[in-house]
Amino acid sequence: MVFFDNASTTKPFESVLQTMQQVNVENFYNPSALYGKSVALSKQIENAKKQIVSALGGSFFDTLVFTSGATEANNLALQNLAKKNGTLLVSVGEHPSVYNTALQLKNNGFSVEFLNLTNAGVVDQKDLQDKLNSYNVVGVSFMHVSNETGAINNIKELTNLVKKHNPKILVHSDGVQAFAKIPVNVTSLGVDLYTISAHKIHGPKGMGALFVKKGINLKPALFGGEQEKSLRAGTENTAAILGFETAVVQSLKQYKQDVALATDLKQALIQELQTQAPFANVLSLPNSSPFIVVVSVSGIKSETLLHLLEQHGYLVANGSACSSRFSDNRILTAMGLDKTLTTASIRISFDANNTKQQVLEFVPIFAKVAQDYLKLIRK
Ligand code: PMP
Repeated sequence: MVFFDNASTTKPFESVLQTMQQVNVENFYNPSALYGKSVALSKQIENAKKQIVSALGGSFFDTLVFTSGATEANNLALQNLAKKNGTLLVSVGEHPSVYNTALQLKNNGFSVEFLNLTNAGVVDQKDLQDKLNSYNVVGVSFMHVSNETGAINNIKELTNLVKKHNPKILVHSDGVQAFAKIPVNVTSLGVDLYTISAHKIHGPKGMGALFVKKGINLKPALFGGEQEKSLRAGTENTAAILGFETAVVQSLKQYKQDVALATDLKQALIQELQTQAPFANVLSLPNSSPFIVVVSVSGIKSETLLHLLEQHGYLVANGSACSSRFSDNRILTAMGLDKTLTTASIRISFDANNTKQQVLEFVPIFAKVAQDYLKLIRK
């Protein structure tokens, strides 16, 4: 099987598995206990936090809350952005962990407005400016890189716009598909809160974090013990936290090489599709992640194409794995794509384990299965 669905998850690095094994077998202590082994482990957790904050471009005074994944980090961020006396702005292109949390907040009586996307898949700056002028905005959330399309939001520009309007407005960005895939520096982006996930960068599943800029006081989403400075109660997932740290260090070490490879694979895939499968539509965006390509064949539903490719040994995605059972695509629709394409798009996403050979072998198979299927169906 060739795994072309690395935006949904990635294979853990060997070094991550080793770290986790070591913690689980030899260093399984509860970091809150008072004996030396536990104190040492809690120091390792603090170091991991510092290491990841620094990898994100944060300062010494910024911090991080470890969570059970990006979903929890996004929930924590949005619960804190929403205020009774103001409006929360959320991009319509967000992952369900942000979008559905925003809908839930709206159902619970908070004022929430959704920001439009342009046909380039990014937040519409004019709409943002209009909504900043029309509402008493207290918080804004827009993702860095879209998990569905790969579109890259200019977070620095968007944040500047918000902060120029009112520096007190809190800005959150979901950086799950950006961290270790495109340059990320939270200080220069100007965001207050930034979400990351371990399993998208070859770390363990069920581990994520919310970056928190100094001076921002969050309310907890979970109550209980005093772990994570009382922000996130519950015994720390020590193996996953230290596995996450290992994944961050390793990912950044091979970052340049991985980006160069993904760029090359994306270019080769698009070029080969153009010549061997000219009937396919490649979603072409002015600024998008080198790791993500969205392709559709008019007349073949995403799910059908996905399974045809699976039969030939290729694993791809239809939309994001978190919303893969819904046939229409909220984000592609918001970008103004025709319904024949929003229901037909598949996502191919790379990582360092993919090769050019895989891409070159994939395209003729893609072309053949799509053409064979189109011949079968009534026009
Ligand atoms: N945000 C984005 C952009 C994602 O791609 C994902 C994973 N599909 C998440 C959030 C949720 O991450 P996790 O699986 O760590 O909860």
